[in-house]
Amino acid sequence: MSFSEPTAPRAGFVRFVGAGPGAEDLITVRGLNALRAAEVVVYDELANRALLRHCRAGTELLHVGKRAGCPGARQEEINWLLVAHARAGRQVLRLKGGDPTVFGRLGEELHALRSAGIEFEIVPGVTAACASAAAAGISLTQRGVASAAILATGHECAEKGAPALDWAALASLEATLCVYMGTRHLGLLAGRLIAQGRPADTPVLIVSHASLPSQVIRSGTLETAAELAADAAGAPSLIVIGALAASNPGLLALFRDSTVAADAR
Ligand code: SAH
Repeated sequence: MSFSEPTAPRAGFVRFVGAGPGAEDLITVRGLNALRAAEVVVYDELANRALLRHCRAGTELLHVGKRAGCPGARQEEINWLLVAHARAGRQVLRLKGGDPTVFGRLGEELHALRSAGIEFEIVPGVTAACASAAAAGISLTQRGVASAAILATGHECAEKGAPALDWAALASLEATLCVYMGTRHLGLLAGRLIAQGRPADTPVLIVSHASLPSQVIRSGTLETAAELAADAAGAPSLIVIGALAASNPGLLALFRDSTVAADAR
């Protein structure tokens, strides 16, 4: 008589996948293959739902999205969901808009998995800043113009108390500012940058729904930024601020002359 070993429980696993900015074909091949293999998909509001049709029949689909002002699952509940499904031995896919490492609350979720001893993998995606630059036909960095591109949140800048970011330091850098979640407070933010010495005619681009058929690109300057933002209200929008945000190369040349002149004063 032979005894078979009891089968070891299957180890659960969590894959964080960047869905990209919206267009279905901007997910990576690795991300798409992971979707096809997943048993549970926990997805955000900004991840394109059309991607879910690549999942196998029977895959459990859990929407945990939230948008500013709308109720959504709390972060601890999401952490708990990931841990509980992985502990049950399932292959969990956490689908996030853009890239998971950028303003995606990834840190909190990784902490929960690490604390529970659950293995994970991160599959990158196209973040909104890159998709927006691509849509507008601009580069986020350029030798001699912008040697840095900064990913910043505009979300906390108008909260009571001290702003989350040191805008004086940001204003002093020769960098392209890519502001996520910033349309609501853009007037305030633009005012801060001007007060810290950025020329009022610094170009500003607002790209809404980058990569989707509903995409809109608005272009202006720090001075007109608040109007542009009011116009874009409600749509997921990325703000690009800096010399390179001039979609018109002639304007860029003019702007460079004016900064040189301002510097010489
Ligand atoms: N992880 C995401 C960012 C999540 S924060 C990423 O890497 O892109 C959500 C913010 O991202 C939105 O408020 C908006 O500022 C920006 N965003 C997301 N999708 C966008 C899109 N298609 N077009 C423009 N901005 C977008």
